[in-house]
Order: sequence, then structure tokens, then C-alpha cells
Amino acid sequence: MIKVFKNIINNNKDYNSYLVYNENNEAILIDDSMIADEIIDWCTKNNIIITDILITHNHFDHIYELEKFVKKYNSIIHINFNDVEGLFDANINLSAIRNEINNWQLNREYIGNVKSFMFKNEMKINNFDIVICPMGGHTPGTTFYFFKNEKMIFVGDTLFRNGYGYRENIPRVNTESFDKSIEFIYANFDNTVKIYPGHNESGFTLEQAQDNLKAKALFEK
Ligand SMILES: [Zn+2]
Repeated sequence: MIKVFKNIINNNKDYNSYLVYNENNEAILIDDSMIADEIIDWCTKNNIIITDILITHNHFDHIYELEKFVKKYNSIIHINFNDVEGLFDANINLSAIRNEINNWQLNREYIGNVKSFMFKNEMKINNFDIVICPMGGHTPGTTFYFFKNEKMIFVGDTLFRNGYGYRENIPRVNTESFDKSIEFIYANFDNTVKIYPGHNESGFTLEQAQDNLKAKALFEK
């Protein structure tokens, strides 16, 4: 089962996070869209425990207040090695330069709950088979998580319903890796796979995204 959490700020920008849980009420959270309290409340009402958190990348709008989950559930935070430092550094996770959130960073005392990876890998969590795809691009450690049996892929800020994600004017974006990460999606997943991005509409198919993918230009080059 999947529960979509949407955090809408000022009626324009919205932030997504996702909870994938099994029949034993064990859940995996993908990013937290800055609403840790709301997510925890929902889990409490539904008797759900968050055992693990998968981070698509280290920008503050995906990781804000992660300590709340560690305190409540002792959750393990999975993140690409190249994005680990941003958990603990408000300048890297960009909260230092945004108004919404003032200099948030994870306290280093929680490092024991952080589990990093560097390579493409498969993992079983709560009986879900997950392919970890470290891609870079949007951030050095941007990672896609593919749930094999459910045919869902979580792509962070790389691919949205109406085209590619945040590719320009962001510190540490590597546009070459970014473009490769989109090509990777099309090369490895079929049209029925559902896409769950960090912002805007979610749960659309690859085919739907392709209809108006601005990134098409990349393939026509
Ligand atoms: Zn974002």
C-alpha cells in the first residue's frame, strides 16, 4: 500500500513524500516533504511504524526534521554516500538560504541511524524488493528507488509529470549526469512503471510523462 503525503505551501509549490507499508504495518518513508509531525500523526492513528527512510537527495525540503522519526521509531535513514554530508550541513542542504526553514541540519548524534551506499544494489526491506539506483545529477547523491514488484519508482526532483525536474540554477547540479539519469529511466523501465517525484503530480506512468517531456530534446540530439 502507498500513502501519498502532500505539503502545499502558499498555494503554489507542493512537496511530496510517500509511505509504502505492508500488511504488518511496517512502513518505508520516501523523503518527508517537511511535514514530519503530520506523517507521524497519521502513522500513530493507523498503527504504523516507520522502520526505514529512503532519501532521494539531500535538499532540506526532503529531509527536514528527520530526527523526529529517529526519536520516535529509531528509523534507519538510507542515503547515497555523496549526499550524506548535506544531512548535517545547512549550507549544503540549502536550508541556510531559504526562508521557509532556518538553518536546519541533522544533529550528528544521529549518525548511527544513517546508512549510506555508493553503488547500484538491491535491498529487501519489510519484504519489499527495492533496487537502489544512485544517479547523481540533481545533487551528487541523487538516487532513484525502484520497488520491483509494485512497479513504482521514486525519482526525487529529476522527472516530473510535465517534463524534467529541477535542472537549472541549483548549486551542485550536474546537467550531464542529470540528462543521463533521465535516459537511464527510459532505458531501464517500461511504460507501465509508475513515477513518484518529489513535487507536483505523482503516480503517473512513464508513458504519460513522455507525452510532454521537455527532455525529449535530449534524445533527439
Ligand atoms: Zn525538492
